[in-house]
Amino acid sequence: MAGLNVNRAEFIRSAASPKQFIRTPLPTVVFAGKSNVGKSSVINRMLNRKNFARVGASPGKTVHVNYFFIDEKLYFVDLPGYGYAKVSQSERDRWGKLMEDFFAEPSLMSLGVMIVDARHKPTADDVTMAEYFKNSGCRLVVVANKLDKLKKSEIEPNLALIRETLKLPGDVLLIPFSAEKGQGREALLAEILKLL
Ligand code: GDP
Repeated sequence: MAGLNVNRAEFIRSAASPKQFIRTPLPTVVFAGKSNVGKSSVINRMLNRKNFARVGASPGKTVHVNYFFIDEKLYFVDLPGYGYAKVSQSERDRWGKLMEDFFAEPSLMSLGVMIVDARHKPTADDVTMAEYFKNSGCRLVVVANKLDKLKKSEIEPNLALIRETLKLPGDVLLIPFSAEKGQGREALLAEILKLL
């Protein structure tokens, strides 16, 4: 299997409009999730970093698509978080427009990584985001983050509820994950390496 040196990661650009999206023949791994779900932490965990993708700063304030170039082999694409209650209508509209533009170009994505909270039933916004991904036709994996906050007996029923609420087709992998502890990292990395 081809390798990926995740220590070679570089921030490339923050795109606020479609003309700034990166159009490349290289694979793109697109991360999405609601604000505070731990999207930055998942990206940092994948890259073995602490503070590479931003963590915990002003949730919902950044309506940008952030691009990271990994080992000159593929891109991590960090979509803006959604569902943060204290966001103005104009910010919400900006988010909606940017996502419409992004998902209108299926060639911008090779693999979707949708991150949800392992503790909770996915929100209506999560369901909407999952629909975007499913309709795009690109391969999708769902990461159930914050696994470390669950009791062992809660894991299976919660995963079943996530699969059912998001109406995930049987071939969509659902990965129990803890950005904090590292569980699930190898499973997600294996999916990413399939792109090389
Ligand atoms: P983002 O807004 O989705 O990028 O979320 P962040 O990565 O900024 O994380 C939001 C908060 O959740 C921070 O306080 C993180 O430390 C915490 N967090 C993220 N992932 C995990 C996890 O796997 N387990 C636990 N216990 N906390 C996490």
